[in-house]
This record gives sequence, structure tokens and C-alpha cells, in this order.
Amino acid sequence: MPIVDMLWSGWGDPERAERLPESVAGLLRELLGVHAEPAQPVKLAEIEPPPARPVPGALEDVVGEEHVRADAETRIRHTRGKSTPDLLRIRGGDAGGAPDAVVLPGSHDEVAAVLARCAEHRVAVVPFGGGTSVVGGLAPEAGGYAAVIALDLRRLDRLVGLDPVSRTATLEPGLRAPRAERLLNEQGYTLGHFPQSFEWASIGGFAAARSSGQASAGYGRFDEMVAGLTLATPSGTLEAGRAPKSAAGPDLRQLVLGSEGAFGVITDVTVRIRPLPETRVYEGWLFPSFSEGVTAVRALAQDGPLPTVLRLSDETETMIGLARPDELGERNDAGGCLAVCGYEGTAAEVPDRRAKVRAVLTSLGGAYQGEEPGESWVRGRFSAPYLRDALLDVGVLAETLETAGFWSNLSRLYDAVRLTLSRELPSSVVMCHVSHVYPAGASLYFTVVTAQGERPVERWRDAKAAVSDAIIEAGGTISHHHGVGVDHRDWYAREAGPLGVAVLRAVKDRLDPEGIMNPGVLIPGEG
Ligand SMILES: Cc1cc2nc3c(=O)[nH]c(=O)nc-3n(C[C@H](O)[C@H](O)[C@H](O)COP(=O)(O)OP(=O)(O)OC[C@H]3O[C@@H](n4cnc5c(N)ncnc54)[C@H](O)[C@@H]3O)c2cc1C
Repeated sequence: MPIVDMLWSGWGDPERAERLPESVAGLLRELLGVHAEPAQPVKLAEIEPPPARPVPGALEDVVGEEHVRADAETRIRHTRGKSTPDLLRIRGGDAGGAPDAVVLPGSHDEVAAVLARCAEHRVAVVPFGGGTSVVGGLAPEAGGYAAVIALDLRRLDRLVGLDPVSRTATLEPGLRAPRAERLLNEQGYTLGHFPQSFEWASIGGFAAARSSGQASAGYGRFDEMVAGLTLATPSGTLEAGRAPKSAAGPDLRQLVLGSEGAFGVITDVTVRIRPLPETRVYEGWLFPSFSEGVTAVRALAQDGPLPTVLRLSDETETMIGLARPDELGERNDAGGCLAVCGYEGTAAEVPDRRAKVRAVLTSLGGAYQGEEPGESWVRGRFSAPYLRDALLDVGVLAETLETAGFWSNLSRLYDAVRLTLSRELPSSVVMCHVSHVYPAGASLYFTVVTAQGERPVERWRDAKAAVSDAIIEAGGTISHHHGVGVDHRDWYAREAGPLGVAVLRAVKDRLDPEGIMNPGVLIPGEG
């Protein structure tokens, strides 16, 4: 039996596949000049992955025969991730690079034993959480290996323990976010980590790729939530995090966070948890321009108080209505830039914080829009990826990219990305929002919509390379929360510099001397 869960050719629950509202299709035809025939995926049964090579090392003896799968469907479902090029390729029937087998360990010890055998037999290992990587984190460059396995961690899905005194919980890596949240909610707590990929991404993937959720203003980034973790490597087990903070040398937790499977497999994560909020309320604000909105959200980020959710769309994103996917198509021609503020906390604290935020935003030119825009954003907060599939179906390419920079440099970064995308992809629509804020700077999240046209994967690859150059030249980081994978590796090397890259390679060589862990991902010069 194949492993079946997420839609193989797109996003999420196949039952929830969306069709594009006619009003939106019309808007796109008008804006992008899309006249293409509908571009439906090929049939799954028609896809032929490359022949599966036998995997040496008798991994069945470690995990059990039923937990080593080599059927075509399971292999296809573990091929690459969920970026738009990934989807275009798999929809077109291209399963090149499919793993030779999918292995499902059930414990830390099984993971460790699988890694030892793979190192001995030179089998490349791709740790596989929710499979939602958008940066090629699941697409290793594994030529020259005896075989490649996807190490699917879904069986490691327990809440191992909860410490109510310290307010921490230890979670296994294969727990998908909704189940992790449910298990914590049952005991009166929340993790507060709600990325747009919430419905499918896993705890291990959040740690491995330094994820950031939509409520990061209130709950922090995932890496800030991590108090401890365990990493199984081909050289043994690394444990980090004896205390919440420590002055005992460099923080080894930080070496593991963001390591994207290149050093080993995270087999548990201890996270800080919060009491379930008694109150949740969301609202909208309108600013005359993006720059005035940026000034206002900066004031909140620097001088407080901070809402739990804080996002600001630019003029184009506001006009298209992307901040409210469920109402998409109700085109907003009123102008301005929509900000969404959300407040989660105790019934005693939220009204006070909300009133103070209101005073700040009003004094900086914001016009209160009531709760409807905020509630509408909450309703649609996980819908956009379904919309992407609907766009792909009608011949539109929709993709996102993100960066971060200091406040003093943010408008330069914004302009550089927009100009480059508009130059590389004429007739596209480029939208942006400030997605995460810090006292010193913020993250910018761009969405690009363009006609697929001829050779969309190659066109996007070239445009993405140009925009990645522009990000680095404008002083931004190549990723604020999607990670590095294979796609961003060369630009990460420019950020880290030659000595930084050499340090990473030295760590990798010590933990993974045979180079079997996700070769080519993250660390330049591998693969
Ligand atoms: C539609 C969409 C929306 C998204 N929205 C957001 C968002 O709002 N915020 C955000 O931060 N990201 C977002 N992402 C990106 C992605 O969801 C995150 O990077 C997430 O952290 C990946 O988790 P995952 O469990 O799916 O990991 P995977 O995709 O399975 O893996 C990601 C990387 O980590 C490695 N890995 C996975 N598990 C482990 C482990 N246990 N040990 C070691 N290495 C491991 C993999 O080998 C891979 O390199 C989005 C992606 C999509 C497709």
C-alpha cells in the first residue's frame, strides 16, 4: 500500500481543492494576458519514476519490512517539495530524483541505526518531515551514491512530555503542526506557531528550516521557542539544551537549528509553550501608503506594544486583496495599504494592549477598519496554497520569496526586489507584505503572479537567480524563514563568506564523514 496523504500534485487536502472564482480569472486575464489552455496535471498512474535501485544495508532489519517502501506512488510522493517549480515539474510527470526507497523509522534508536548502515553503504539520506520545503531542501544532489532514501519521520509523532512548571514540552519531529497543537491544547497550552504551511509541516521541519509563523510578533520565531533538541548523526548523538540560557560556550542548539538535514536527523525538540489564549481578536487598519505603514509597524516593533499578529500589505497586495484569500476577487480600489493586527492573550490584558496599539497607529496615520478585515484574514490564513493550485490549473504561475533586512535599508531592499522581478518577468504582478517584525528590522514576503507561458520552470529559475543577486546586493538575507536548501545555497555562501562556509563544512565532515546527509543541501561545495 502506498503512503497517501497530501495531494501529490499540489497542496493539502485533495478534498479542499479550489476553483478560481470567475471574477479573479477575469482580473488575471486583464492583468497578465493569460490566454493559455487549462494546464491540468498528468495522471499519477502515468508517471514513471526512474527505476528504483536496491538499497544496501538491510534497512528492513532495523525498521521492519513494512516500513521500507519502494512502490512508485510512495516514491513519487517523496520527490522534491512544494515550491511552484516542484509542482510544475511533478504535474508534468517529471519524477526525476525520486528516492529509491522511503524508510519510516519508529524511534531515535532506529534513526541512529539507519544512519549508521547508510554511512557504511554510502546511501544518501533525505530527512523528510511534512515535505513542504520550498527551497529544494528535499532535492539532494546525490549522484555517486549507491542509493538515496527519504527518511520519512511520520512515525515519530508523540508528545514525549510536558513540564507545566517550566512551561516546556518535548515533541517528536514527525508530529505535524495541527496534531502537535491539538495535543498541547488538550493540556491547556499552545505552541503559537502558525506558518502558512501549518496544516502539513512538521515539528522537525520547523526546527531544521528555522521556520517563522504568522503570529511571530507575539510568540516568536520557531528557533526562539526551542529550549533543547536531540540530533542523531552518522557519528553519534548530539544533545543540546540543559538550561533555557547558558554561558557555557557557543550555543550548539543554534548549530542544529537551520541545519536542514545536512548534519543529521532531529529526533526530538523541547519547546517553550504558552497558556492557551482566553481571547483572540483581529482587526484591519488602512494606511495611505506602504512607507507610512512601515513607519507605523516599526514604531510598534521598536517601542511597543506589539500585537500578536502584525502584517502590512503594500498597495498592490491590498488592491488585489491577497491579504484576505477568502474574499479574493472583491477588488479593492480604495487605495492604501492594509495592515492586520491580531491580539491573543488573557481577557484582562488584550483590551489594554489593543487600545495602546490603536493610539499608536492612529497617531501615525492609520485608519481603523474594524474587525472584519482581520477576521477575514484569519479565516483565509491557510487558503493561499490551495489558490496557487487553482492558478496553476488556469495557466498562471504564482510563487513567493522572502528576505529580511534592517529598517534603515528596508525600502532599498523592497525596491530592488520589485524592480528585478518586474524586469525579469514583464507583465507580472508583484505584491509584498511585511510579514515579521523585530526591533531592528523586518521580513518582506513577495508574491509574484505571471502567465506560465513557455518553459515556466526555467523562466522562474532565471528570474529567481536575478532576484537573489539583487537581495544580496541590496544587503538583505537570502532567506528569513524558508531556509537554504539547494536553491539558495550559492547565495548563502555569499552571505556566510569563505571562512563561514569552511566552518560549516568542517562541522559536516565531523558529524557526517561519509557525506550521506542531504548532500548538496545547505552546504556549498557538497554533492
Ligand atoms: C504553501 C507553503 C507555505 C509556507 N509557509 C511558510 C511560513 O509561513 N513560514 C515558514 O517558516 N515556512 C513556510 N513554508 C516553508 C516550509 O513549510 C517550512 O520550511 C517548514 O519548516 C518545513 O517543514 P516540513 O516539516 O514540511 O519539512 P520538510 O519540507 O520535510 O523538510 C525541510 C528541510 O528540513 C529537513 N528536515 C525535515 N525534518 C528534519 C528532521 N527531523 N531533522 C533534520 N532535518 C529535517 C529536510 O531534509 C529539508 O531539508 C511554506 C511552504 C509552503 C509550501
